[in-house]
Amino acid sequence: MRRGNLFIVSAPSGAGKSSLIKALLERHSLDNSMAVSVSHTTRATRPGEQHGVHYHFVSVDDFKALINQDAFFEWAEVFGNFYGTSRLAVEQQLENGIDVFLDIDWQGARQVREMMPEAIGIFILPPSREELERRLVGRGQDSSETIAKRMNEAVSEMSHFDEYDYLLINDDFETTLDRFRSVVLAARQSLDNQRQANTTLLDALLAVK
Ligand code: GDP
Ligand code: ADP
Ligand code: 5GP
Repeated sequence: MRRGNLFIVSAPSGAGKSSLIKALLERHSLDNSMAVSVSHTTRATRPGEQHGVHYHFVSVDDFKALINQDAFFEWAEVFGNFYGTSRLAVEQQLENGIDVFLDIDWQGARQVREMMPEAIGIFILPPSREELERRLVGRGQDSSETIAKRMNEAVSEMSHFDEYDYLLINDDFETTLDRFRSVVLAARQSLDNQRQANTTLLDALLAVK
C-alpha cells in the first residue's frame, strides 16, 4: 500500500480554503482516501462550529501543555490565537494510505516542509482584494473588528504565495475545485506513489523469464 500524500493548503483568511477542502472531501473522497487534519486552536468557536469537527477548541493552558508534550507536528500564533496540528493524527492517516490536508498558515507550512520536504504545498488566492473582503463579510461569522484585522494581515499572508508548489486562483468555485482535484490526482500518479501502490504488478511485468 502507498503512504498517503501530505498537502499543505494556505491562503489569506476568506479566500476559500476550508470550503474547497470540504467540497473536495464530500464529493471526491467517497472511498475515504482523503482527510482533513483537525487542528487545535485557542480562538473562540464561531457559530455553527463543532468541537472535534472544525477544530479541537482548547484553552491557552491546555495548548501550552500540548506543546510541552511535543504533541504538535507544527504550531503557530495566527491573529493572536494559537493553532497547531496533531502529530499522531497526521502520521496515522498517512500510514494508512490516506491523503491528508493541512489547512494551516505560512509559518506552519515552513515547519512542515522542513520535516517533510515531500509535502505538496497549495496556495489559494482570491480574484481581487474587494472580493476577499466581500467573502469575509459574507461568511457572516466574524465581527467587523476581526474582519478589519484579517484584511490587514491578508497582504502579508499573500506575499508567501511563492513558497508553494501550486497556485490556485479561487474565482469560480466549481472551476477551482476541479483544479484542486487535478493537483491531488496528479500527485497520486507520481513515480514514487505508483511504485509503492503497484509493487506486485511491477514485479510481475519486469520478471525475467
Ligand atoms: P466554515 O469552516 O464555517 O468557514 O465553513 P466553510 O467556509 O467551509 O463553508 C461555508 C458554507 O458555504 C458551506 O455550506 C459551503 O458549502 C458553502 N460554500 C462555500 N463556497 C461556496 C460557493 O462558492 N458557492 C456556494 N453557493 N456555496 C459555497
Ligand atoms: P477560508 O477557509 O480560506 O478562511 P472560507 O472557505 O471560509 O475561507 O470562505 C470564505 C467565504 O467565501 C465563505 O462564505 C465561502 O462560502 C465563500 N467562498 C469561497 N469560495 C468562493 C468562491 N469561489 N466564490 C464565492 N464565494 C466563495
Ligand atoms: P481560522 O480562524 O479562520 O479558522 O484560521 C485562521 C488561520 O489559522 C488560517 O490562516 C489557518 O490556515 C491557520 N491555521 C488553522 N489551523 C492551523 C494549524 O493547525 N497550524 C497553523 N500553523 N495554522 C493554522
